[in-house]
Amino acid sequence: MTVLDIRDLSISYDTPRGSLKALRNVSMMIPEGRIVGIVGESGCGKSTLISSVIRLMAPNARVGSGEVRFKGADILGRSEAEMRALRGTDISMVFQDPMQTHNPVLTVGRQMVDIQYRDKKTKTEKLKRAAEMLALVGIPDPEARLNQYPFEFSGGMRQRIAIAMALMAKPSLLIADEPTTALDATLEVQIIKRLKELQEEVGCSILFISHHLGVIAELCDEVVVMYAGEVVESGSVRDVFHNPAHPYTRALLECDPGHIKVSTRVLPTIPGNIPDLINLPRGCIFAERCERRHAACTTRPEMRSAGAGHQAACLLIEERETA
Ligand code: ADP
Ligand code: MG
Repeated sequence: MTVLDIRDLSISYDTPRGSLKALRNVSMMIPEGRIVGIVGESGCGKSTLISSVIRLMAPNARVGSGEVRFKGADILGRSEAEMRALRGTDISMVFQDPMQTHNPVLTVGRQMVDIQYRDKKTKTEKLKRAAEMLALVGIPDPEARLNQYPFEFSGGMRQRIAIAMALMAKPSLLIADEPTTALDATLEVQIIKRLKELQEEVGCSILFISHHLGVIAELCDEVVVMYAGEVVESGSVRDVFHNPAHPYTRALLECDPGHIKVSTRVLPTIPGNIPDLINLPRGCIFAERCERRHAACTTRPEMRSAGAGHQAACLLIEERETA
């Protein structure tokens, strides 16, 4: 079954300078039980994409085209009440700053009990389950720690608690937007490993956003590479990272000396900038920064097959095949 199916999605923002085309004809899907990563420089539209899935879009956002289907049913047309019922239950989220998720004036235990309000269990049973979840994400002495407030935990601990809370509802889809970016590298690795174990237990799908190539390589089954509001490449982590078909993906990997080790903290910088999304260039969106640009790149390349389950939007693919 397909948990999330995004087809031909275009979203723009109204701005004083004109319409900013943040997403253009984006398609991607997440099969049941799979972990899909989205990688791309800042400003590529990753958060805009997520905001459409959880339907928490900015007031100036406009959906120009496309569909977002969650377990087969349309998301974009649902009422706000239906969306509220879905968020935090069948679709859970973890953000970069866990303080956004935690209420500072309630103990962690109280918050973890509250989140189970739909379950017909006693409070004692709910506390027991909360302690089990804390133990699962690697928090020592969980029973005692349930009585503490968020500020009494370190940043890494708070992020583990946020993950525990997100998984408590047994969601079909967990969305994590740069959840480990603010943490140090060692902690990041620990949390990613734990997340992977938990995912196997809970059996949910994960949409994981990061600009850390190493984290995506470590955690994900599949990867979607976004550039300036478009999907430029997608496929299994293995195919995309070991045999990249798009010059953008290749550039990301090449100027990354550690290659795709987890130690790679930040996305390497490619010379040049993302084009102005209000005045888009014609043709290939990456052409201006591409070493292999040629005359034909003034028309926008369609996504084409670069192998089984591997696609990229670049004319070079055909040339690679015929070479
Ligand atoms: P990412 O998460 O990949 O960094 P975003 O989805 O946040 O990218 O942003 C994509 C583009 O849309 C950027 O150019 C950003 O400046 C712009 N953008 C995001 N939100 C708004 C908004 N509410 N109004 C205008 N522009 C926005
Ligand atoms: Mg973002």
